[in-house]
Amino acid sequence: MVIVTEVTISIDDFRFKIVDLRCSSMPLPLGHTAVGLAVHDIYSKSNNSGHLWKTLTFIIVLTNLPDMDVLIGLAVNGNGNFFHRGPTHSFLFALFIAFIASNGWRCWSKIPRISPLLCFLLVLSHVVADALLTNSPVSFWWPLELNLSDGHSSWREIIESVLFGAFRDLGTIVVSGLVIFLNRLIRNRPIPIPVILSRLVKGR
Ligand SMILES: [Zn+2]
Repeated sequence: MVIVTEVTISIDDFRFKIVDLRCSSMPLPLGHTAVGLAVHDIYSKSNNSGHLWKTLTFIIVLTNLPDMDVLIGLAVNGNGNFFHRGPTHSFLFALFIAFIASNGWRCWSKIPRISPLLCFLLVLSHVVADALLTNSPVSFWWPLELNLSDGHSSWREIIESVLFGAFRDLGTIVVSGLVIFLNRLIRNRPIPIPVILSRLVKGR
């Protein structure tokens, strides 16, 4: 005999289920880099972004810089969550890094001249992605607020997560790719993959 019971879901339950769709762990370097590439593509006015490797390195470093707090936590306390999502995940940090990165060329000629606004947007993209894609808050208005991560993350867990957990960011990577594709389509610019491949082959 089959007993059917009536199932009712309140509005609060429904909201809870929507919130739960977000990931409890952080987006990984690959996901943050994909978002940064989309930001850079929308920001760039021309297709000529200088040396490809320099541009890529610049995007990877700036979009992942806020997570240096994981390395600091591991070095100081053996716990990657110790300082995580504190000051480096704030509006103020994005402004500070934008100032430093956009003036880096004054100290070292190999650093390209980069717009302060682009630097700011790349760092901010990390903080916004963390805030929107996970259910753990960031310290956006630090020093007015401080929301450090709970729990414990060891070196092994962090390394395993970065090396083998990239599939978690697949959705972020696909959406970022779609944004780049649509941006290129709307602005009548070449689709990046053939351009990037040809430049990689030429080594510039
Ligand atoms: Zn982060």
